[in-house]
Amino acid sequence: MIDATAVRAWLGAFAREVAANRVLLTQLDAAIGDADHGTNLDRGMTDVVAALDDLADASPGVLLKTTGMTLVRTVGGASGPLYGTFFLRMSAAVGDAEALDPARFAAALRAGLDGVVGRGRAQAGDKTMYDALAPACDALDAAFAGRLDLATALQRAATAADVGRDATTPMLARKGRASYLGERSVGHQDPGATSSALLVATLARVVGAEKAR
Ligand code: ADP
Ligand code: MG
Repeated sequence: MIDATAVRAWLGAFAREVAANRVLLTQLDAAIGDADHGTNLDRGMTDVVAALDDLADASPGVLLKTTGMTLVRTVGGASGPLYGTFFLRMSAAVGDAEALDPARFAAALRAGLDGVVGRGRAQAGDKTMYDALAPACDALDAAFAGRLDLATALQRAATAADVGRDATTPMLARKGRASYLGERSVGHQDPGATSSALLVATLARVVGAEKAR
C-alpha cells in the first residue's frame, strides 16, 4: 500500500532531484524555450517541501492537493499549471483514502495525465511532458495487468518514461514555446519530458524500493 509517508517521500525526493538537475533542465529549455524550466520548477518544489512540512498527519490526497496548488501558484509558465493540474487531479482521484493499493495509485497517475491533456491538449509525439508520462502510465497498467509486483511495475514505468524522454529529441515540437521554433526544435531533448522522467524515476526509486523491502 502507498500511504502518506510514501507520497511525502516521493515528493521530497523529486524536489531534491529537480534541484540537482536545475541547471540541466534550464539548459534544455534554453535550447528550445526561454531557459526557465529548471529554475521555475526548483522554486516550486522548494515551496512544496516547505508547505508539506507544515502539514503533519496529512492524507495522501491532501499532500497531493497542496503540491498541485503550490505549483500552480509558484512555477508559472506552461509547466506550472500543467504540473499543478497533474497533482490536483491525482489528489481528486485519491480522495480521502489513507493508503492506496497499486491499482488505485496507477489510476490516480492516469487521472493526473488526463488532467495534463485536458489543460494542454498535447498528443503523443508533440514533444512535451506527455511523451514521458503517457508511456509510464501505459507501462504501469501493463505491468499490473501482468500481475507484476509494485517495485517491478514502477521500474518498468521509469524505464518507459526515460525511453519516452529520449524519443522527444528527434521530434518537432507542436505545443508550447518550443513549437514557435518549428524545424529548429528538432534535435533537442524536451525539458518538460526530462523533468517528468525524473518524477517517475523518483517514484520507482523511493516508493518501489520501500515496498520491495
Ligand atoms: P514555459 O514554456 O512557459 O517557459 P516551462 O519552461 O516551465 O514553461 O516548461 C516547458 C515545458 O512544458 C515543455 O518542455 C513541455 O514539456 C511542457 N509543455 C508546454 N506546453 C505543453 C502542453 N500544451 N502540454 C503538455 N506539456 C507542455
Ligand atoms: Mg521555459
